[in-house]
Amino acid sequence: MKQKVIILGSTGSIGQNTLQVLAQHADAFDVVGLGAGTRWKALATQARYWKPQCVALANGAHAELAGAAPAGCRVITGPDALTRLVEETPCDCVVSAIVGAAGLPATLRAVELGRKVAIANKEALVVAGSVLMPLARRTGATILPIDSEHSAVFQALQAGRREDVERIVLTASGGPFRTATPAELARVTPADALQHPTWDMGPKITIDSATMMNKALEIIEARWLFDMPHDRIDVVIHPESIVHSLVEYRDGSVIAQLGTPDMRTPIQYALTYPQRLPCPAERLCLHTLGKMTFFAPDAERFPALRIGHAVAQRGGTLGAVLNAANEEANKLFRSGAIAFTDIAALTEEVLDQHDCIAEPDLPALLAADGWARQRLAQCAARITEHAARSR
Ligand code: NAD
Ligand code: MG
Repeated sequence: MKQKVIILGSTGSIGQNTLQVLAQHADAFDVVGLGAGTRWKALATQARYWKPQCVALANGAHAELAGAAPAGCRVITGPDALTRLVEETPCDCVVSAIVGAAGLPATLRAVELGRKVAIANKEALVVAGSVLMPLARRTGATILPIDSEHSAVFQALQAGRREDVERIVLTASGGPFRTATPAELARVTPADALQHPTWDMGPKITIDSATMMNKALEIIEARWLFDMPHDRIDVVIHPESIVHSLVEYRDGSVIAQLGTPDMRTPIQYALTYPQRLPCPAERLCLHTLGKMTFFAPDAERFPALRIGHAVAQRGGTLGAVLNAANEEANKLFRSGAIAFTDIAALTEEVLDQHDCIAEPDLPALLAADGWARQRLAQCAARITEHAARSR
């Protein structure tokens, strides 16, 4: 029996890598649904190749997509299209690879339906891990990590008993500005920040890697996926991105997962777990690699890590606020409206102004998300108005 797979965010970086993995194992998987945001042409091209039962597009272009989709393929469009795709297409596995909090509703639906969910969309966990994880326990949904660090931790956790785990160590490449001075950081342009030294990813996460907000989100992601308190989650800078993360046990043994930086490896593991199949990613050769380096993170130049720990510790609505403020600041930086260092500064300003609700339900989390986006826009307007006046 082939595993029936739906990919949410199929036109993105993770989506395309997922389709490459599935193409290698066409005897084991059947693509039954594909969903994306706006790029209807790319979605239609994928649909003609994979012939899914249904395609879904969040933003308009119904007639165009319907005209270009293969015969017999159902087409759904509109804001709730991806949630409906999950609801109305029976499947074994949903790959959650939309970027941002926009991925939450369809991911939530997949968890409600008790599906296996291979999750790349870390923002959904950052916003609503407190809702998704207990829900998965109730419905029997399995949530398997795609994020490379969390896949590594998930693999290393299989070496021992949960009660013997002392801490998790997430590795971080440090991004393109690892050695930049504060003055250099203040002058970083979007083009500079969109060049990542080791990973080829979508634009939002590439900027998040440069600010290290990605690691802040990953601390919170790990807190929910592995039910681990924030003070037992550490970060180490590892520029080569070969050790994908580590788990330290109470006897001092440290178990790590290594490999070349290629997202197809963690994506495939989430899809085939507990099996392992051959993978097209380049093999790791330690002889050629020669050496690996590790450094302590610098919290002065990269305040995101401190922010991530504080939010993971306090929880409540703060994850939703952090994520929403960062999404908006990330977008403003990419559009040239604010400086690179404003991203963390403005995000922290919004967090400081938030009245945290300790045990929020889903509506409270969504309200916090909306509030943070508005507040971030107001705080950023101060900067853009000041820049306009001094011109
Ligand atoms: P991307 O920008 O390349 O792709 C995003 C996908 O989401 C696209 O298919 C887009 O059409 C879809 N999308 C965007 N907004 C949407 C909306 N409102 N409704 C429906 N679909 C929408 O992003 P990516 O790099 O593939 O990242 C996807 C997720 O995976 C992110 O959460 C990211 O943090 C995570 N992730 C990515 C990588 C990587 O290597 N790219 C690694 C680890 C984790
Ligand atoms: Mg990662």
